[in-house]
Amino acid sequence: MAIVTVQVTTDRQASLQDITERVREVVRRSGVTEGVCTVYVPHTTAGVLVNESYDPTVAADILAALDRLVPAQGPYRHPEGNSPAHIKASLVGSSQSLLVQGGDLVLGTWQGIFLAEFDGPRQRRVLVSVRP
Ligand code: ZN
Repeated sequence: MAIVTVQVTTDRQASLQDITERVREVVRRSGVTEGVCTVYVPHTTAGVLVNESYDPTVAADILAALDRLVPAQGPYRHPEGNSPAHIKASLVGSSQSLLVQGGDLVLGTWQGIFLAEFDGPRQRRVLVSVRP
């Protein structure tokens, strides 16, 4: 099974971008009816998470809480100046494993998949692999 690349353009410095439908489309096209879908973000200042997509204030609260955990001002040693983005991406993680059943993603009623951007805006790649 091929690995499919989904291109995501982020429009702000930090955002949680809902990519659920784009991942779901890859799953449907894969022809896999039961298995595992891996979503992987090959970046050091972005990640991927699963959480509530119904109420957008949840995503806003997650970003605000990460801001409190990882202050914009250091001290940090990384000379590029984007250490907070690297640290937030580490906390969120770079991959998620989702289950596939009946040819579709298994997600809870309120769950969605988000690309977590911490050093945007920019073009990001999300790799999706679906296996039986
Ligand atoms: Zn950096």
